[in-house]
Amino acid sequence: MAAVCTSVTSQFSGLRPPSKFDASTNRSFLQLANSQLRFSASSKPCRGVVAMAGNGKFFVGGNWKCNGSKESITRLVSDLNSATLETDVDVVVAPPFVYLDLVKSSLTYRIEISSQNSWIGKGGAFTGEISVEQLTDIGCKWVILGHSERRHIIGENDEFIGKKAAYALSQGLRVIACIGELLEEREAGNTFDVCFKQLKAYSDAIPSWDAVVIAYEPVWAIGTGKVATPEQAQEVHVACRDWLKKNVSAEVASKTRIIYGGSVNGSNCAELAKKEDIDGFLVGGASLKGPEFATIVNSVRFKKVAA
Ligand code: PEP
Repeated sequence: MAAVCTSVTSQFSGLRPPSKFDASTNRSFLQLANSQLRFSASSKPCRGVVAMAGNGKFFVGGNWKCNGSKESITRLVSDLNSATLETDVDVVVAPPFVYLDLVKSSLTYRIEISSQNSWIGKGGAFTGEISVEQLTDIGCKWVILGHSERRHIIGENDEFIGKKAAYALSQGLRVIACIGELLEEREAGNTFDVCFKQLKAYSDAIPSWDAVVIAYEPVWAIGTGKVATPEQAQEVHVACRDWLKKNVSAEVASKTRIIYGGSVNGSNCAELAKKEDIDGFLVGGASLKGPEFATIVNSVRFKKVAA
């Protein structure tokens, strides 16, 4: 297997092959994309032949949102601590703020901690907010920004979210940058435009994509039980990667993980994981169940195909 990996990685530069998506004509190249296997050129431990377009490690995040109590969270942490998780996956959970410290001090080091939000600048007289400095102080490594619930319920706009991302990155916090369209935007044929606009707002604000994971989360799929089909998700992921290639660089397009979120669970994760541009998941409801979350983390196995 090692020989196969070496020859495969030396064949490919680590950059994606020429784009197969042309937003200007609004054409999807799914058939083409699905007809070719691409290979991981990662310097990370070799998984063999991998159906993965980007060269980053598979990433699974659990967004616990505003759920849980001391008791239920202690149980969830215990389930996660005893779960068997594939090694070649970055695993992150985002507890509610008030339980961050509890989770940080009781959860296995194997799983990193994220916050679900952060303030736009240095802390101070901002009642009810949590600063990036406070988050890094307690060992938090990630922050989820641009989540649809913050965009559409709280009213955060693209520019505000971009500034938050820039500040978090400037202080060493890594960012799970959410994007995604509303149902009416999809039905009006504006999915790509919405996602590109949201990507541009991040891009305009941040100096680098090195510590950013993009989470494509169609709003109509979040918490609704209505998951995007693997083809629908793949199509948007390809388009976003292509946007990065054209507007940032081919290297960033290849390196940046684009994960899918929206009603992912233990039963649908395998089919989604098989899609080469899906580099992992952001999981809400199903991340509150330890064994099911472990199943989703371990769906990385479906990235591996016979050599
Ligand atoms: C989310 O909130 O990021 C999410 C994807 O939620 P769910 O999995 O419950 O749809």
